[in-house]
Amino acid sequence: MENCLFCKIASGTIESEMVYSDEHLFAIKDINPQAPTHLLIIPKKHFATLMDIEDSDQKLMGSVCTVAKSLAKKNDLEVSGFRLVVNCGSGAGQSVFHIHFHLLGGRPMKWPPG
Ligand code: AMP
Ligand code: ZN
Repeated sequence: MENCLFCKIASGTIESEMVYSDEHLFAIKDINPQAPTHLLIIPKKHFATLMDIEDSDQKLMGSVCTVAKSLAKKNDLEVSGFRLVVNCGSGAGQSVFHIHFHLLGGRPMKWPPG
């Protein structure tokens, strides 16, 4: 997708701090971290929001969870805990319209979220 920030990061046109990459997903450090660990797990395929996924994307979406688990382990978050968050739509705070999953940890978290 032209003019999509995360498509440009996926293709290497825009630099980022990449912490994980495979055939279908990559993860970067968030540029404006909201917790000591704040990573974004991002499918390489462009979906504007969670509402754009189809049944055929179930395997890909499942792999987001296994990548999150492995990155949580790598960042020593197994005991302290972490959040995996997807903002869907501007009303939920989504600002980049290429689906991404926030992995947040390293500080106490409150509930309900803001
Ligand atoms: P959301 O508001 O859920 O759409 O999340 C978008 C996230 O992307 C925010 O947490 C931003 O800080 C982050 N972000 C924006 N631009 C970049 C960038 N160039 N590299 C890394 N993270 C970014
Ligand atoms: Zn995109």
